[in-house]
Amino acid sequence: MAIKAYSKAKDGNKKLSTNFRVKEFACTDGSDPIFIDSELVTVLQNIRTHFGKSVTITSAYRTPTKNKAIGGEKYSQHLYGKAADIKVKGATPKQVAAYAEKLLPKKGGIGTYSSFTHIDVRSTKARWKG
Ligand SMILES: [Zn+2]
Repeated sequence: MAIKAYSKAKDGNKKLSTNFRVKEFACTDGSDPIFIDSELVTVLQNIRTHFGKSVTITSAYRTPTKNKAIGGEKYSQHLYGKAADIKVKGATPKQVAAYAEKLLPKKGGIGTYSSFTHIDVRSTKARWKG
């Protein structure tokens, strides 16, 4: 339940869980540091373990500049290191969202898009289709 700052340069290869490393959460603009909420890592690792297939993070932490450039929401959970857009090999975004629902029954954000699933660990509950 804590947001931590990591140095991409120093901690990029550091393991956050069995299958995830710090660099996978980096903003795609290459900036350093990277903010990551440990609760998000726990949820993603549970998804990885459940499906038993590789999980690709297409976007996790975003700087305000990057978020604005790609048209992200003003108060996007990506800005706080609390969100990740993921693709699970061999599973549809709908299947991933259905399992995430079990992990976050009363809280968090789950957005189902055509090619990925958005997962975040906000304290309130939000569900949507992209
Ligand atoms: Zn997202």
